[in-house]
Amino acid sequence: MKKIDRKSIFANIRRIVVKVGTSSITSLDTKLDLGKIGNLVKDLVQVKSSGKEVVLVTSGAIATGMGKLGWKKRPDTIPGKQAAAAVGQTHLMRIYELVFGEYDQLVAQILLTQGDINDRKRYINASNTISTLLQANVIPIVNENDTVAVDEIKVGDNDTLSAHLINLIKADLLIILSDVDGFYDNSGKVIDVIPAITPEIKAMAGGEGSAVSTGGMITKLKAAEIVTNAGEIMVIANSQKPNIVSRILNGENEGTIFLPKGDKLPSRKRWIASTHHKGTIKVDSGAKDALIKHGRSLLPSGIIEVVGDFEFGDTVRCVDEENVEFAKGLTNYSSVEVNLIKGKKTNEIESILGQIYYDEVIHRDNLVLIGNQ
Ligand code: GLU
Repeated sequence: MKKIDRKSIFANIRRIVVKVGTSSITSLDTKLDLGKIGNLVKDLVQVKSSGKEVVLVTSGAIATGMGKLGWKKRPDTIPGKQAAAAVGQTHLMRIYELVFGEYDQLVAQILLTQGDINDRKRYINASNTISTLLQANVIPIVNENDTVAVDEIKVGDNDTLSAHLINLIKADLLIILSDVDGFYDNSGKVIDVIPAITPEIKAMAGGEGSAVSTGGMITKLKAAEIVTNAGEIMVIANSQKPNIVSRILNGENEGTIFLPKGDKLPSRKRWIASTHHKGTIKVDSGAKDALIKHGRSLLPSGIIEVVGDFEFGDTVRCVDEENVEFAKGLTNYSSVEVNLIKGKKTNEIESILGQIYYDEVIHRDNLVLIGNQ
């Protein structure tokens, strides 16, 4: 792997999201560890005092709620988990407020679900609120709103939620702190820098024969795809190392860095990238090339197949003939309509549907390329 100048990579970072997993802030699984939280808070306060804006994404609500309730086993039912999260979330925030308070640092609680991300107005509201908090020198503390989130509206894991946050507030860096030193290669060595998330890298996260990686690496890699696709940087590092966030920002050799795929995406495309898709449109290789290489819109003629039920304005994903996802966008036509006009020329739309609303099924302004094409 090529050598990189870590100092220069982190020199212009202004807005950071730091994510901690349950094991990074608890001991014996269900008890908050004040020592661990104390170290984390001290580090974040130091980073903030160096002029950076900091948002913390924290897990631990369900685990600490279980501890408080005296539940030994993770509840099987959704209401059980949600009840534990409701108890744990207040406990979590009380402790964060107290510990940050020792440094006179105000914090705020933000609870989000995928439903808030999918809805453009709620998304913008959340974004404005977090920006206002940052301007007011507050450290927003984010978790999934577990008490209301069920499958359809759930992000599901905080690695992915923290990556969506990078889009939501246009942050420049996501640091995921966990109990590993970084992203490991097949020989068990931490990779210093990952310039692109290739199929080989994906195989290391979940493939058989991998020495150290766990299921946890799969969601981290998914987060890295979202972040690097937005044109931002992600780091995976060990939460138990002292002053880890400060040291990463100082360019010290800690953790694995994922480099941006390209330029920073504009806000609207970042939102599209974070929304949930309602359906899938399969396109031929000519259409794929037109979208990827020439930055064109998706026309009916290149569409082969439609899967799922969607309406005008919904997010759909585009896959190629091998079912590899390469783009996401907002559709101008419903799934029923796309089924009728697929494979047809644009000038045939009117005779098939009775009227023509748009020439394109997905306009290029509403289309975001994803994956490593
Ligand atoms: N939101 C969950 C909690 O606070 C954690 C989800 C995760 O760890 O990814 O318990």
